Amino acid sequence: MALHTAGIHHITAYAQDPQRNVDFYTGVLGLRMVKKTVNYDAPEVYHLYFGDEEGHPGTIITFFPSSASRRGIRGGGQVGYTTFVVPTGALPYWEQRLRSFSVPVMKAFRFNEHYLQFSDRDGLSLELVEREDGPKSSWSVDDVTPETAIKGFGGAVLFSNKWKETKKALEEVMGLTFMGEDVNYARFQSAGSFGNVIDLPMRDIPLGAGGAGTTHHIAWRAQEDGEHGKWHEWVKQHGFHPTDIRNRNYFKALYFRERGGILFEIATDPPGFTVDEDLDSLGEQLKLPAWFEPERARIEEDLEPIQVKIQERGNSSDIH
Ligand code: ZN
Repeated sequence: MALHTAGIHHITAYAQDPQRNVDFYTGVLGLRMVKKTVNYDAPEVYHLYFGDEEGHPGTIITFFPSSASRRGIRGGGQVGYTTFVVPTGALPYWEQRLRSFSVPVMKAFRFNEHYLQFSDRDGLSLELVEREDGPKSSWSVDDVTPETAIKGFGGAVLFSNKWKETKKALEEVMGLTFMGEDVNYARFQSAGSFGNVIDLPMRDIPLGAGGAGTTHHIAWRAQEDGEHGKWHEWVKQHGFHPTDIRNRNYFKALYFRERGGILFEIATDPPGFTVDEDLDSLGEQLKLPAWFEPERARIEEDLEPIQVKIQERGNSSDIH
């Protein structure tokens, strides 16, 4: 039986200074830091997760911030724009808010929707779109209210080095539905209520280079563990070479690179971010998987301390 993902689970990107990364995603965009852990493949680097109050699948952007990172080059084989969705009527608020934090904004229009495009402090391309879809956010920061707060991902714009191959992977492997074309874009949609709209420029884009300000991968949702095993088979049946299934503590993961150069992950919805912390205190402590606990002292010593602070527009004050 054909498998269909519900949509995006998370998107992972690179950044430089960890505190600057926290300041932007919590203090400016108003997301919650739902997990502070390390890169399981390189524990000297943080792995920070930002999302809605609970870190629901479809709301989570994650970073490997390291002051030692080089700047990357955005291009084919990456997520070109990460799209966040806000309630209808919220774009003027965001335009003003972003400008008040000295974030330049640009406007774009496609598929009959207005987009506000901007970059994070490392140059990662982001955009906001208004849609009715998905529940309003219950996480309030500064003057961001449920009427304006980011609800999660709207979707993503994928930059492909072989766009026809990426189109095939989206439709035939991930089970997205082709919705139509608008000027230079093809649009695909999945069944989830948000994080479900993928736009693909219909041209081959020269490969980028990984580094700060670029994405590492896009993860798609598998709703439970049983389904995840089926995805492994399914991906193989389509001629791709998935990794083995890896335990990422908050979800299980497998990875494969589609032929347009983009690294796809398939991640399970369960168990989620409350598996090792209470909902009330998500993101407050450095959480390590059991296999790194014996090395905690050394790992903590190597990491720069970070904290979540209210951003006072040019000024900042602690809230913890
Ligand atoms: Zn991932």
